[in-house]
Amino acid sequence: MTNPPHPDEIELSLFGPGVGECAVVHLGRGQWMVVDSCLDENNIPVAISYLQQMGVDIRAQVKLIIATHWHDDHIRGLGRLCKVATSAQFACSAACSTKEFVTLVAANSRISFQSQSPGLAEFAEILDSLKSRSNKRASPDHWACEGKRLFAHNDELAVEVHAISPSSHTMTDAHLKFARMLPEIGGQICRVPPLTPNSLSVALVVTTPGISFLLGADLEVGSDPNRGWHAVLNSSIRPQQRSSAYKVAHHGSENADTYRIWQQLLTNDRVAVLTPYCKGHKALPSADDINRIKRFTARVYVTAWPAFQKTTQRPGKDGLINRMAQRRRSMHRRPGHIRIRVPVNGSFENHRVSLSDGAKEM
Ligand SMILES: [Zn+2]
Repeated sequence: MTNPPHPDEIELSLFGPGVGECAVVHLGRGQWMVVDSCLDENNIPVAISYLQQMGVDIRAQVKLIIATHWHDDHIRGLGRLCKVATSAQFACSAACSTKEFVTLVAANSRISFQSQSPGLAEFAEILDSLKSRSNKRASPDHWACEGKRLFAHNDELAVEVHAISPSSHTMTDAHLKFARMLPEIGGQICRVPPLTPNSLSVALVVTTPGISFLLGADLEVGSDPNRGWHAVLNSSIRPQQRSSAYKVAHHGSENADTYRIWQQLLTNDRVAVLTPYCKGHKALPSADDINRIKRFTARVYVTAWPAFQKTTQRPGKDGLINRMAQRRRSMHRRPGHIRIRVPVNGSFENHRVSLSDGAKEM
């Protein structure tokens, strides 16, 4: 059995098999937060396997579950976790707090299997488990947005979790967009702002008096000062403490990075951790992305590298078939694991990093 952290230690554990991401965070005093979810090699949500291995009582000790957005690689197994972790509060992006989005989730569960969005289906399962818990309406406990505090201990231990996105402007965009997706409800809308789930994602900071972790979700930079990372950087209502560990946004992609994040949100002794995403036409992070990140910090850890498991190219098969085989392999392998532990009241100098199941320092 893996040893659990000391009650006065905070931990950031990041898991990723190649497609999928899950962060498990010890908030002190045996209380845990899970951000997003992916499955392990046995199709079990990796947070459940890891916490059980340490003898954590998931039902009582997981206090907060956050869905940063509903992309498949971040949400698989989150419904199952919500069913088990019955004392956890559930938070998701306030950009989803429209009746149109909830209708979309419900409509998705009624359409044919082939055209379903797995991310929305998982969301429906989460709402279902919340409904059976409260016996009333299915609702998240918190709609997360810029500046919102999502966790604090009820004693003197000063560990807190705040959302730092989405911004109010992004929420307005989302409300218009969802209305447009259901025209019978929304009616005519002249201009729909460009919007992807990434732009609605919930970036987070975990803070103690001396140490802070920044979890960048899949938030992208964009060009608008009121949206994406620019809105975070320009915000006066987010916690202003700089972080020492950074879960790099959007698998290290260039469009989720700006020097201002490194300059304004992070300390000089920062450590970067990230998960790869090897599903699209271009795997993330690329070697160029890694080199770019290494210009900002000497310590970069990736949960799986290379993102694809090595496979022999089969002669006579075209590239697509080989790529699909690689993708299946990467989804069913044991997720790599980066773990950072540090005393709550210490300084980040005292942190310890452990790497297992294929996680690597770059
Ligand atoms: Zn992602």
